[in-house]
Amino acid sequence: MPPSLPPLIDRHTHLEGGLDPAWVRRESARRNLALPSSLEDLWSGRSLPFQGFIEAFLFGAALLDSREAIRDAVLAVAHRTQAANGSGFDLWASPHFLVAHRGQVGLGDFWRGVEDGFALAESLGLRACLVVDAVNHFGPKHGHAVLDLVLPELPPFVRGFSTGGLEGCPFRDWAPVFDRARSAGLRLAAHAGENGPGANVREAVLEGGVARIVHGIRADEATLELLAERQIPVDICPSSNRALAAEVDPHPLPRMLRAGVRCALGTDDPGVIPCDLRTEAEAARGMGLEEAALAKLRRHGAEDAWCLMD
Ligand SMILES: [Zn+2]
Repeated sequence: MPPSLPPLIDRHTHLEGGLDPAWVRRESARRNLALPSSLEDLWSGRSLPFQGFIEAFLFGAALLDSREAIRDAVLAVAHRTQAANGSGFDLWASPHFLVAHRGQVGLGDFWRGVEDGFALAESLGLRACLVVDAVNHFGPKHGHAVLDLVLPELPPFVRGFSTGGLEGCPFRDWAPVFDRARSAGLRLAAHAGENGPGANVREAVLEGGVARIVHGIRADEATLELLAERQIPVDICPSSNRALAAEVDPHPLPRMLRAGVRCALGTDDPGVIPCDLRTEAEAARGMGLEEAALAKLRRHGAEDAWCLMD
């Protein structure tokens, strides 16, 4: 009998970037908001500089102003995962941005909306957890503010803390924030080596102390060795990389796997850059990866998934 397949997990997807485009169109019309051309461009498959992506991402984020909207956003991720035969997802979200920075939803409504969405996802047979994202280029003071906001009443479905945004602030400066998040029982990740240099990946691991890298596509050979040696999981999102880091070509995923890095696939912002777990597996296949390598991506995807850990 062939061994059963490990669960298929979307290892990296954002709440604010995972909205259902039909929902975004409906909500925008209801509020008399014109869709930004950056969003239409990305929906139609064009590549844009990071700034254009941020504009499109923030437009969707601005619509998340109630418990129901948050629930719908989680549900969009759940439905997309299920349609691609997935079994779960690690969901990044930025409560500080929505609650404190924009002040568009209360923290209680944010948590309850996620909880409602996760309950619906569970009723579909999916596993899910939340990773709280802080904005790298806002700096460590912002990182502490994010923790000040979320730590006092941290729901059990929050499993991790991460940095995202522009890689503008050295990870060594973030180390005290990461230490504090770790002390609170959270696992640590960082978006690194995507819109910033590959050296950020090494620094995030060695000086920031993170245990998981998102993207890491600009890492050099020595850094890949480090990632392999320390068995650091790396979330790879081919469609997102193609849209936002198009100059990293050919995509380094085959090289990373050959180096022994524990890569797995994620969708990143599939509500802005249309994709799902099927398109990402196809993209990996299109890089020349064979069945054994694709199976390894899936196995890593499950073995290192935070949504499957207690
Ligand atoms: Zn991301």
